[in-house]
Amino acid sequence: MLTIRALDELRKQVATPHGAGRTVAFVPTMGFLHEGHLALVRRARRLGAFTVVSIFVNPSQFGPGEDLERYPRDLDRDSALLSELGVDVLFLPATQDVYPVGCSTWVVVEGITEGLCGATRSVHFRGVATVVVKLLNMVQPDVAYFGRKDFQQLRVVEMAVRDLNMPVKIRGCATVRDTDGIALSSRNEFLSGKERSRARAIPETLAEAARRYVGGERRAGTILEGLGAKLGAAADAVDYFGLFDAGTLAPIEDEEQVSDEPLVALALHIGRTRLIDNIQLGVDEPPDV
Ligand code: AMP
Repeated sequence: MLTIRALDELRKQVATPHGAGRTVAFVPTMGFLHEGHLALVRRARRLGAFTVVSIFVNPSQFGPGEDLERYPRDLDRDSALLSELGVDVLFLPATQDVYPVGCSTWVVVEGITEGLCGATRSVHFRGVATVVVKLLNMVQPDVAYFGRKDFQQLRVVEMAVRDLNMPVKIRGCATVRDTDGIALSSRNEFLSGKERSRARAIPETLAEAARRYVGGERRAGTILEGLGAKLGAAADAVDYFGLFDAGTLAPIEDEEQVSDEPLVALALHIGRTRLIDNIQLGVDEPPDV
């Protein structure tokens, strides 16, 4: 595995497989890798693609007072894991290359960024869309992999790529969960033992909503009945919890019948940690709890 920091060196390395007609696959991450990230890398490797993974903790997607400074990092461990999986290039862009002095161009995806996480993290998706478009322009992959764990992010990236006519396929991959059903996340590192037990309410809630949906329930309020209170009791604060149209991310009201394969999504705070999770009913495997 080559570890590359300079953009011209990256371009040189990617030109060879491209020239030979080999697929180039890309997995962007913020590092502190876990099995969720590695599942994306394995998907790329299974294609037999020339595989590039980036690690970049993107400052522009963190709002003031969020956890940019304390975001966990362990480059040596990450590098060993990626090398073991047969990754071709680990790309570690420098902040000044991603955001040159005077940089004043942003990618703003309207509409679907306004609800869910966008309602409380106002600059977040502008930062995400901008950095993903920049990284895609740097790596120029044929295909890029993203986790469904960050469902709204996946939609934002799909929309940016479509709207900007970018020649890359975006693939969403299933959420990888721990044995207790909690979705793997670099931020789980911050949870104390007690907080982690409280977080189990998240997969339990998603699994119960899935059971009701699979059992034939279609009234939104009934699918979620009692579950908001369960989450409220486990969390210190709930940013949002509800049913959403999986295409537009528009909220579905309690008295409505759900659209086909709707999304149950939530964000909440336990202690100092903000956790998000979701399940697309009738599509995603429910958490095994
Ligand atoms: P991050 O390092 O948090 O920016 O995540 C990098 C990529 O890994 C994103 O596409 C995430 O959606 C994906 N990802 C993070 N956690 C998981 C998980 N538990 N299962 C599947 N994909 C994940």
